[in-house]
Amino acid sequence: MNINATLINYYHICYRKLWLHANGITMEHTSDIVYEGKLIGEETYPQRAEKNQELEITAELENGIKASAKIDFFDARTGIVHETKKSAAKEKAHVAQVKFYLYLLRKNGVKATYGMIDYPKIRQTERVELSEDEMTEVEQWIAAVANIIQLESCPPTLAISKCKSCSYFDFCWIGEE
Ligand code: SF4
Repeated sequence: MNINATLINYYHICYRKLWLHANGITMEHTSDIVYEGKLIGEETYPQRAEKNQELEITAELENGIKASAKIDFFDARTGIVHETKKSAAKEKAHVAQVKFYLYLLRKNGVKATYGMIDYPKIRQTERVELSEDEMTEVEQWIAAVANIIQLESCPPTLAISKCKSCSYFDFCWIGEE
């Protein structure tokens, strides 16, 4: 079983969203979202696009679980992971995703000092650290993700007030409002 950064991100948003995505039920126009995010990254940080230090990284963990991620920009000299988010709000799921990147790098013996999330729309950044204790916490997230995606049925919905911008809104709520 492969646990990737999207699953870690969704774990911090909604277990149901995580389960639906992992079980092949997709509603979002991923190509548009990815395209827009890529565009924001390239227009805001053109020097990064030139350097193109994308990195794919994996780690084999216990119980047949593999963890993997594609990191958009990693500065190997300083050990800093950069992530660009198109959203206009900081979210704990973004922080979790970057902690997952730092975890994977360190698991592979790569110097990973900290992460920096850039929010070009609101012109803010968020620095992300990963302590030794948090390495264990990330392992717990991975195990929890593996458990949730193997559930036989879909986890319950969140409160509808938390669902307004979710791509699964119609799936979860159509006919329920
Ligand atoms: S609409 Fe709400 S309950 Fe359904 S997947 Fe999205 S966040 Fe979860």
